[in-house]
Amino acid sequence: MSTPPTFQRLKTILLTNAPKRDIELVHRAYHFAKDAHKGQRRASGEEYIVHPLATAITLAKMRLDNATVAAGLLHDVSDDTPITINEIEKEFGYDVAQLVSGVTKLGKVRYRGIDRYVENLRKMFVAMAQDIRVIIIKFADRLHNLKTIQYLPSEKQQRIAKDTLEIYAPIANRLGMGDIRDKLEDLSFKILYPNEYEWLGHLVSSRFQEKTRYLKSIQRKISHELTQKYHIPILSVHGRTKHLYSLYRKLLARDRDITKIYDLIALRVVVNTVGDCYTVLGVIHTLWRPLKGRIKDYIAQPKPNGYQSLHTTVFCDDGEIVEFQIRTQTMHDEAEYGITAHWHYDERGAVAFDRKLSWAKELSEWHHRIQDSHQLVETVKMDVFRNRIFVFTPQGDAIDLPEDSTPVDFAYHIHTDLGNQCVAAKVNDRLCSLDTALHNGDVVEILVNKQKRGPDPVWLEFVHTATARNKIKAHLRKKTFDRIRRILTTPAM
Ligand code: MN
Repeated sequence: MSTPPTFQRLKTILLTNAPKRDIELVHRAYHFAKDAHKGQRRASGEEYIVHPLATAITLAKMRLDNATVAAGLLHDVSDDTPITINEIEKEFGYDVAQLVSGVTKLGKVRYRGIDRYVENLRKMFVAMAQDIRVIIIKFADRLHNLKTIQYLPSEKQQRIAKDTLEIYAPIANRLGMGDIRDKLEDLSFKILYPNEYEWLGHLVSSRFQEKTRYLKSIQRKISHELTQKYHIPILSVHGRTKHLYSLYRKLLARDRDITKIYDLIALRVVVNTVGDCYTVLGVIHTLWRPLKGRIKDYIAQPKPNGYQSLHTTVFCDDGEIVEFQIRTQTMHDEAEYGITAHWHYDERGAVAFDRKLSWAKELSEWHHRIQDSHQLVETVKMDVFRNRIFVFTPQGDAIDLPEDSTPVDFAYHIHTDLGNQCVAAKVNDRLCSLDTALHNGDVVEILVNKQKRGPDPVWLEFVHTATARNKIKAHLRKKTFDRIRRILTTPAM
């Protein structure tokens, strides 16, 4: 069992990550929350404060800033006690109050006349558009609720687990937060499919135990080879088991045949530099023969959510099939913590925002631009959940777009003027029509005519991104408006 959530534990995690960190704010938030929830109990019978503490601990482990950790402690205060957001603001400042208010609203708002899925999705996106940290607090909150879900009525358990799988986990995935996605998925999987969960859990752990000695010897061999022969410093080599829900989905796609799953257990090699990653791949391939079609270079071509690593599967000693995953420490942190790995903290644990993910930025722009929230949900839902592709500019910059995007989507993604003035496109050096569907890895060059007055209305029939659609519409609206104004201001003859 995991250690019970206490303030001491929270403090230890915070100070381990950043020894000079000032935790005064977090400390005050803890006492404030403890007082506010005094006398309240969880469905488990435990004191209520256990839940906000567990939430804050998850956030601290994810290396979030002080304001977010404090908001994690206070997240249920304005919902379950007489304390208002104003009082929180007076006590802890604007940033913390806004986060608490965001989390509270997320739970409260009810939209009428639309299905649960859309309603939940909308709430998530509206909150996310304001401050992505609200969603991350919600993940941490949900994680503890799932861990203690056995005290709730079964119907409620099912509903919470289903929402988690359909909404929370895909968003965590999109934010590149692999660790939290895996936990949310496995806890929900356990509730929704208890028998399959148990069967798979047993299968994986017995297979892991069976292979432990074997993997240890492979681990020693590769470590020795890399450090002694090639002088490559290794940060770590460790075995990892696939998390159960992704394994389950893969099994369903492979007729439930477990022998067809090669990455049940993988060896992960963490090194210092990207150059070392490729050397390690080469060394592995000289030691063991790779399986055809199983070498994946997610460093040169990252997954849509930003995931980077080299993967290869080899016929290892004694004919065993083993997958290797090779990455740098930075890639490892990004795979675990996703978007939050891009945030940098100063010594006091205050966050400097660096919203690197372009779609998170786009999201907040749409929120301001699109007034009709139903429309917002539809467009956002499409763009975020559909598969993404990576295409390249002639200079080699990768652009992240939804599948089936066209050169027009590409052009508007780069710049409004490029979109408005585009007349043709070259895809992989060949002239193509503007409605051509782009594919992963395409190099796209946009040909422009500076004299061109604006977009072609017919483009609206084939563009795929909300960005392109909105920019085209905005331009067309402006054109109509200008024409009307000209008519009105031209003196009659
Ligand atoms: Mn809560």
